[in-house]
Amino acid sequence: MTRKDLYAKHRDREIAYSKAYYELHKEEIKEKRKEQQQIYRDNNRERIRERSREYSRAYKEAYREKIAEKNNQKYTCECGGRYSHKNKYIHLRSKKHIKFTENK
Ligand SMILES: [Zn+2]
Repeated sequence: MTRKDLYAKHRDREIAYSKAYYELHKEEIKEKRKEQQQIYRDNNRERIRERSREYSRAYKEAYREKIAEKNNQKYTCECGGRYSHKNKYIHLRSKKHIKFTENK
C-alpha cells in the first residue's frame, strides 16, 4: 500500500466516523448550533443590522433600473381603475376601489 492509499483510507475512515458521530448526536448538534447562532446574533446585533443595510443598499444600486421598471409597471384593476406597482396599496384603499368591492 502506498502512502497515498494509506492517507485515503485514513481519510475515508475519518469521514465515516464523523458521519456516524453526527447521526448519533444529530439532535444535540443541531440544538448546540442553534444556541451558538443565537449567541452570535445577540453579540453581533449591530454588525448584522449594518450588513443587511449594506446588502439592501447594494441590491438597490445594482437593480436600480429593474426596480424602477417594476415600480412603474401599470396594472388595470378589476374595479376599472389603473395603478402602478408602487401605488398598488394606495389604490386598494382608494374610494373608487373600495366602492367597487362594497358593491361586489
Ligand atoms: Zn381597484
